[in-house]
Amino acid sequence: MPENAFVTLVTNDDYAMAACALVRSLVLTKTNADIVVMHTKAVSETSLLPLRDLGAKLEAVEHLPCSPAFNERHRKKNIHENAPFSKGDKPLFHTPLDNFVKLRLWQLERYDTIVFIDADALVIRNIDKLFDYPEFSAAPNVYESVADFHRLNSGVFVAKPSQATFDSMMTVLDAPDAYWRRTDQTFLETYFSDWHGLPVFYNMLQYVWFNLPELWDWKSVHIVHYQYEKPWEKNHGKADKLKPLIDLWQAYCEGKNLPDIDTLANPSDMK
Ligand code: UDP
Ligand code: MN
Repeated sequence: MPENAFVTLVTNDDYAMAACALVRSLVLTKTNADIVVMHTKAVSETSLLPLRDLGAKLEAVEHLPCSPAFNERHRKKNIHENAPFSKGDKPLFHTPLDNFVKLRLWQLERYDTIVFIDADALVIRNIDKLFDYPEFSAAPNVYESVADFHRLNSGVFVAKPSQATFDSMMTVLDAPDAYWRRTDQTFLETYFSDWHGLPVFYNMLQYVWFNLPELWDWKSVHIVHYQYEKPWEKNHGKADKLKPLIDLWQAYCEGKNLPDIDTLANPSDMK
């Protein structure tokens, strides 16, 4: 049997808390694959415990050994000033540089195939099928219009761990003056320029709910991804528009009152 794993990343207590909802959702899909949470040392023991209790395997990881110049170019202040986020807001606890730590999953060579999932996502149907997809597979970054289809979203992707790939990535990532405007996402899109497309419902971005409601069909949605504002942020700017999705996340977070997904109302029915 091939060894497969779902992997996420947490570099602070906020994302560790969110990962509990993700891990709980994965367990409920009855997957046999390992569930691995990569965590940096900034995450407290108290935040890691519930993840372990849910059955996740914990993998301590370091930040990438990037040059000081690279780290400076990708510092939050510089990223936000050079390429402001005009579509939505990033929470205060989000550090762009931490996104790159995802690449560490290529070092988990004990696994044949890894499906990486951002900590701010929920898996609401079994997605074991994704282990049969090739490297590098990701869904399109669709949340506003069809023009988004040519870009990938790095919140969900299929990868084949290999130290050799990791080493090669590090050379490209930290090449002199290399600047990755949208961090790991821009990097992965460039490194795997011939990426394979996953169906969009393997990474439904929350803004689809109000920007492209006709694309949202609970019968096909497998992963809900809370890009930009997070469902555990109190009264964020889009909280009213996203209430049904926030309620869903809260249910998974608390582990109670989980709805039957097939009976949920689609946004296009609510008009
Ligand atoms: N992440 C993290 N700490 C950070 C930033 C990111 O642990 O400070 C991880 C976490 O898994 C998160 C993912 O990297 O879900 C990508 O960041 P985020 O989901 O906030 O970006 P978005 O989906 O909004 O683009
Ligand atoms: Mn995300």
